[in-house]
Amino acid sequence: MCGITGYIGGRQAVEITLNNLKRLEYRGYDSSGVAFPSADKINIVRAIGKIVNLERALEGQNAEAHVAIAHTRWATHGGPSERNAHPHHDCTERIAVVHNGIIENYSELRTILKSKGHRFTSETDTETLAHLIEEALSDFGLSNEESLTSVQFGMAVRAALLQVRGAYAIAVIAHQTPDTVFVARTDPPLVIGLGDGENFLASDITAVIRYTRDVILLEDGDFATITANEVYITDLFGTQMNRNPMKVTWDDAAAEKGGFEHFMLKEIHENARTVRDTMRGRLTDGGEVVLPGISFTEEDWKSFKRVALVGCGTAYHAGVVGKRLFE
Ligand code: GLU
Repeated sequence: MCGITGYIGGRQAVEITLNNLKRLEYRGYDSSGVAFPSADKINIVRAIGKIVNLERALEGQNAEAHVAIAHTRWATHGGPSERNAHPHHDCTERIAVVHNGIIENYSELRTILKSKGHRFTSETDTETLAHLIEEALSDFGLSNEESLTSVQFGMAVRAALLQVRGAYAIAVIAHQTPDTVFVARTDPPLVIGLGDGENFLASDITAVIRYTRDVILLEDGDFATITANEVYITDLFGTQMNRNPMKVTWDDAAAEKGGFEHFMLKEIHENARTVRDTMRGRLTDGGEVVLPGISFTEEDWKSFKRVALVGCGTAYHAGVVGKRLFE
């Protein structure tokens, strides 16, 4: 399970999103990255491994922006590497996307987009989204080389999402609409933190609670257009949705425990979601196992005489159960 965070307002957006990413580290990740507008495009800085590597990669960069989106990745499509780390660009580098989850039909979409001339730079399912948005703009007779309103750009994001099958929480920024962050979710969680002249977004309340206690929990199918002063929520077809903000009364420590009395209790209650998240991208609705990183053929699998499951601690016990299942 990875993490998404974003900020728009008067403060240093990159610094805030990096701080918030650290609060999401417990979710596990293999790489991280951040996107923010510069003079003529959306800048993306990424690093493999710990967030401290991302901080090093940002040293000496002019990262003074008032809007940013950031991500910790848990690879499902394409190995853990800097070029597969999020955010991902479209061809013009004026759109940047972070995504938590999987795009099930990414392979078909990628083939179509490539045939229309889109150039891919990663192996991820996520990059498909950035190019789909770029393509949707041109379908609407618009281009991300010209000035766009956030309504126009939001329309393109929604049109792109309507072509996608899968589970996602996403955040998008574009050079043409530097005062807006676009987000959507279907399945993985996404929270909007409401500030005074600033707004936050994150995969989890813990990441925003230091800044605000007023939050909106987006629901499945929601699409939100977020500026420093406003949050406008619709479904993917543009129909307005009313989502009442809630006041978080937990203190910081309780928030980390998700409102539960102990971490163990929280983890027990999170089991169902954790199992779903772990399987996501590896098991289709039809019960088929997909292992994109492993290129053995059916013959290879059949020729194996011995399978070794390696683990220690809890992983060892999972391995023991797995051994019985295999046998
Ligand atoms: N499927 C995406 C990838 O492999 C997102 C993974 C995640 O949720 O971190 O890049």
